[in-house]
Amino acid sequence: SIMELRDRYRFDMIGGDTKVYGLMGWPVEHSLGMDLHNGGFSRVGFDGVYVPMPIPPEYEHFKATLSAFLDDDGFDFRGASVTLPHKEHLVRFAEEWDGAVEVGEWVEASGSANTIVVDENRLLKIENTDIDGLLDSLCEEMKIGREGLSGMRVAVIGAGGAARSAVAGLSEWGAEVCVFNRTSERGEMLAQVFDGRQARSGSPCRVVACSLEEFGFEQYDILINATSVGMHGGSDEDGCPVSVDGFEKGMKQDGLVYDLVYTPIETPLLHHARARGFQVLGGLDMLVRQAVRQFAMWTGVEGDIEEWRKVAWSRIE
Ligand code: NAP
Repeated sequence: SIMELRDRYRFDMIGGDTKVYGLMGWPVEHSLGMDLHNGGFSRVGFDGVYVPMPIPPEYEHFKATLSAFLDDDGFDFRGASVTLPHKEHLVRFAEEWDGAVEVGEWVEASGSANTIVVDENRLLKIENTDIDGLLDSLCEEMKIGREGLSGMRVAVIGAGGAARSAVAGLSEWGAEVCVFNRTSERGEMLAQVFDGRQARSGSPCRVVACSLEEFGFEQYDILINATSVGMHGGSDEDGCPVSVDGFEKGMKQDGLVYDLVYTPIETPLLHHARARGFQVLGGLDMLVRQAVRQFAMWTGVEGDIEEWRKVAWSRIE
């Protein structure tokens, strides 16, 4: 609508020098990114605009679109957030692109990327800010530095992209990770990628896979739901990724239950965990933090986390 064009996309401010950013994914309509990034540009006085860039799921569409954007001199494309199903496509694109590409450390570690930066010399940089977003939100909630994760026992439920980010970041900082997934082969494959890799400390990463039925046999300091179970509009929005009985047995009493799902704010898992006295954390903080990191890479300005959180909360509530 005209109101959206003027208020959300700051249409009146767009000129010949406005740098263009966006969200590449499929679908992209309901993302918070438009409010977060355009609001951020406005607050710091940065001449940029952030728009939806829907790209159908196949790699060929992603490659054709991104190549066209990078090759077009008249279109000041300076970066993008990349979401499902293109996070791994971006890594492949960077491998195939014949120009210079700088690959961030978390991309190497995780095999997926969610951020594109294009500098004034058209140098392409890709990074995965999900992992820092996840680690920062977790450590702030637990009031520890990242070194404090070393030796912690973490159960990650899921084996998709979000689980991969969790496993990459946590195992790198020395946590012992167990992956539980509905499709056990996918869980095993994920664990194999990371188990035994050299972590930051120099010691090998410890990542194993277990079947969901085994949850509750051992106790964990942290439980992370990286499935879409409990997500509004998903296939199992009223569900819990592990049985309520199971997570009571499987968690240490002072343990943290962290649900990466952020709509709704209080998922069934968080509801049950809170009712049983566990510390809980929802996924919105990770979402905000990964966006703040992207914004800093594009603009050179550190966004104020509190302000960004307020914008995100106002959109979700
Ligand atoms: P994905 O790659 O599609 O993976 C989905 C995972 O969920 C798979 O492990 C899948 O298991 C599992 N799953 C789906 N439906 C299930 C069900 N009914 N019962 C049990 N397991 C089920 O998705 P993703 O990108 O990893 O995202 C997962 C969730 O994390 C989403 O809700 C997403 O919104 C959230 N997320 C949050 C953030 C954040 O910033 N907070 C960032 C990324 C993602 P199978 O392997 O058996 O299919």
